[in-house]
Amino acid sequence: MKVRFAPSPTGKLHVGNIRVALMNYLYCKANEGKFLLRIDDTDFVRSTKEFEEGIRTDLNWLGIKWDEIEYQSKRSDIYDKARDDLIAKGLLYPCYEDAEELDVKRKILTSMGKPPIYDRAALKLSDEERKALEASGRKPHYRFKLSGKRVVWNDLVRGQQTVDTSSMSDPVLIREDGAYLYTLPSVVDDVDLAVTHVIRGEDHVTNTGAQIEIFEAISGTRPEFGHFPLLVGKDGEGLSKRLGSLSIESMRHDGTSPMAILSLLAKLGTSDPVEAVKKIDDLIAGFSFTKIGRAPARFSPDDVARLDIQLLHMSSYNEVKEKLSVLNADLGSDFWEIIRPNIHKIEDSKIWVDVVNGAIDPIIDDAQFCEKAITCLPNDSLNLESWSQFTNKVKELTGAKGKDLFMPLRKALTGQSHGPDMGRLFPMIGLEKSKSRLQGQKS
Ligand code: GLU
Repeated sequence: MKVRFAPSPTGKLHVGNIRVALMNYLYCKANEGKFLLRIDDTDFVRSTKEFEEGIRTDLNWLGIKWDEIEYQSKRSDIYDKARDDLIAKGLLYPCYEDAEELDVKRKILTSMGKPPIYDRAALKLSDEERKALEASGRKPHYRFKLSGKRVVWNDLVRGQQTVDTSSMSDPVLIREDGAYLYTLPSVVDDVDLAVTHVIRGEDHVTNTGAQIEIFEAISGTRPEFGHFPLLVGKDGEGLSKRLGSLSIESMRHDGTSPMAILSLLAKLGTSDPVEAVKKIDDLIAGFSFTKIGRAPARFSPDDVARLDIQLLHMSSYNEVKEKLSVLNADLGSDFWEIIRPNIHKIEDSKIWVDVVNGAIDPIIDDAQFCEKAITCLPNDSLNLESWSQFTNKVKELTGAKGKDLFMPLRKALTGQSHGPDMGRLFPMIGLEKSKSRLQGQKS
């Protein structure tokens, strides 16, 4: 089995593209197949080196590894050969209409209530007429001659699909400047590079009808196809409006973790629950096209943020050690275990470093209560029993209980109204700081 992800380097990759890449990746890895990264850079005007590098950087960062990479810009000889073969078979024919003439034809058909399908007038041209057109400076574009039959395939996601090629215009494969449009290079590559499964968004379903005919004309066979519903935004709108903020590059720069993105994209629009998964390989076993629904999948950056927090809470000390030390917040594994459930982003650990090691502004709601609490502080160094011993004494002395007992102590000792388990934090803060904080001193 071989699949391919075939982005055009004419923009930055966004979550919609990555969903396509991920579906291909998971499907092929579940079947011990190969993943081909095909850079569709036949559009010389819009393709850039920068976008192409961006694609590789994004995929590497996400952990979507390719087994093979090909650039369409380096393969034009192969497309030329396929072009010549199709012309020789009478399946690719030159046309000379310009955009304006085609537009008039379409308008006439539409006004007669007919579908605006190309009338194949160019097929009826004699050699002399063609020569005369070329002598007058016209350059041909080339169309593929569809069979006019129904093309049927069993889609991996959508089940049996039928496209009636008699309802379509013969597709233009080569522009009048000689440039190949997407279709021919794509099919030629899928054949030449032995792609067995074409998995992509359902915006390509109609193309598939024509492409299957081209596959069969070129190779006598066709790959399997799977088309899944597209991603839409929270309100059902297409993603294209907010592509900037949904680019993988911007999410990377914002500190989003790759697995938050992949955990969501793997499950969005499927019958499985969305949950944080630590490794891309752990998504492979659960992947199945039968789980993908037919409705568009709704993407929300809030879901990525939620998964990001879940992943942080799942991270072991060893997994975050490096990041903590960059932040000057590595106080060992106990400290990480204590603060882990209470932070939303790794940077929040700095707040707790200050609580334990640095100086904070205590919040004193009731100075008298805090004064009394000071008298209940143990004399010896603090251990894991100390907090309950201390709070029991404060309770006896002041009569406060529940929230009235714990909240003022927490606010005085940490400067926060919520946070980690005080039983574990208290010994880390220590007696000296506890005392001066209860006195209202910054310490
Ligand atoms: N370069 C094409 C695109 O980005 C590839 C489509 C396909 O998967 O065949 O739309």
